[in-house]
Order: sequence, then structure tokens, then C-alpha cells
Amino acid sequence: MNSFILVLPMAQIKKILLAKNGRKFYVRDASKDYHTQFGFIGKKDLAKKEGSAVSSNTGEAFTILKPQFIDIYRRIKRDAQIISLKDIGIIIAETGINKSSRALDAGSGSGALACFLAHLVKEMVTYEIRDDFIKIVEANKQFLNLKNLKIRKKDIYAEMDDKNLDLIILDVPEPWKALDSAKKGLKPGGFLVSYSPSIPQTIDFVNAVIQGSDFAHLKTVEIIEREWQIEERRVRPKTKGIGHTGFLSFARKI
Ligand code: SAH
Repeated sequence: MNSFILVLPMAQIKKILLAKNGRKFYVRDASKDYHTQFGFIGKKDLAKKEGSAVSSNTGEAFTILKPQFIDIYRRIKRDAQIISLKDIGIIIAETGINKSSRALDAGSGSGALACFLAHLVKEMVTYEIRDDFIKIVEANKQFLNLKNLKIRKKDIYAEMDDKNLDLIILDVPEPWKALDSAKKGLKPGGFLVSYSPSIPQTIDFVNAVIQGSDFAHLKTVEIIEREWQIEERRVRPKTKGIGHTGFLSFARKI
């Protein structure tokens, strides 16, 4: 018999049902029975405490859980291409940002990167030029209940109103145009990371960093994630996975 995990309240997502095979079911209204393709879970069972094992009417097992940050994060609104978790991971690891850090990203897009980092750092600021994207970021900020995320309507190529930052991440079409702003915003030794999907942007950014006198270029990387399928002894890379996302260039203010 399968067993599943059911997840409980945070923001609008009340509970999560988590299955043994890793499948998750998000329960928004725990006052009604919840239907899945593996049968339904009655509202009385949905009211049980975190960690409870419950069964659907067809006998499938689920675990009831409270949603954690990552469960909710995976449900944010996304309009622009958002930065992937593998790329967020390397930014955190290479810069060592933590709960006392102050960081800024531009442009916000859907705010995926800004929201993830806000969850980790002391203060997160995000710059965006388009009102439609700012609305999405505001909705995601509410959805994740992030109090330390400041959303500003600003053009990173021309404006920098924040100072003494530990980290700035650029995800804009022409990142080399943001070098002056990055210099103004960062503290000495602060990190500048630029994410670009294609190589011409990466080349122009890195060459501008190398030719200028304000930053040291550390490295440019591409993170490749390959997921494996493991079913007893049928073990091989999955045929579908994350394709190319982008190149990440790391620099430090000198
Ligand atoms: N990293 C984001 C996605 C960014 S998409 C995420 O994870 O969700 C790129 C965004 O940059 C777009 O929303 C675009 O409107 C914005 N943008 C483009 N030029 C900009 C500029 N000069 N200043 C601020 N934002 C800019």
C-alpha cells in the first residue's frame, strides 16, 4: 500500500498531504473533504494534528503536515522566467549570506529569487521597473508572509538608493549597465552576481567587470542538475529534467 504526506496551514494553503512517493497535495480548505486521484480524505481526518497518518476512502495512506517555506514557495505566482533552485543554491553557497546579511536583486520579475533570499537574510530589497511585475511580487510576498522584503520601483541601470549591501544579484538583459549602481550599493568585499541565460550577455558583463577597476571577477559557472530515476535496480538518469537555465558570474567589490 502507498502512503502519502498531507501538508497543514500557512498562508492560504492549510495543509499538505505528502505521499510516500514524494507527491504532495495542497489543501486550501480543510473544512471540506479533499479529493485526490487516490480517493478522498474526510474533513475530520484533515483536522488531525501534524504528523498524523490518515487514509483515503480507498485505503491509501497519507501523512498530514504543516506547509513549510519550500512547500509554499513552490506555489508562488510566476510570470517572468524565474530563477531555478539549483541556481539559487550556488548563489547562497558562494556568497555565504546568512541571517545578518542585507541583499538586493534586480529585476524582481515574479520575485522568486527575492522571496527565497528574504527567507534567509535580514533584509532583502528588490528593484523592478514594471508595475505588472511589482504586483506579482507583492502578491508573492503576502503569500509567503515575508516582512523583510522591500519592493522598490527602480531602474537598476540608473538608480541605487540602498547602501552597504552584502550582495547584489542582477537578472536583467544588460547587466553591465548596472555596474555603477552595484558599486554604489555594495560594501567593500560585497558580492555581485549576474545571472544571464545566454553567453553574449555573460561575455559582455564579465569583460566590463575585468576592464573596470571596481570589481574582481571570481568565476563564471553553469550549474547542471541531472535527476536519476531509482526503481529497485532500474537505475538511470531521468529522460526529462531541467534543461539549460543560465550562467552565473561572481564578482566582488574591491
Ligand atoms: N530573478 C527573477 C526574474 C527576473 S526577470 C525571479 O527569480 O523571479 C527580469 C526582470 O527584470 C523583468 O521583470 C524586467 O522587467 C526587469 N528589468 C529589466 N530591466 C530592468 C532594470 N533596468 N531595472 C530593474 N528591473 C529591470
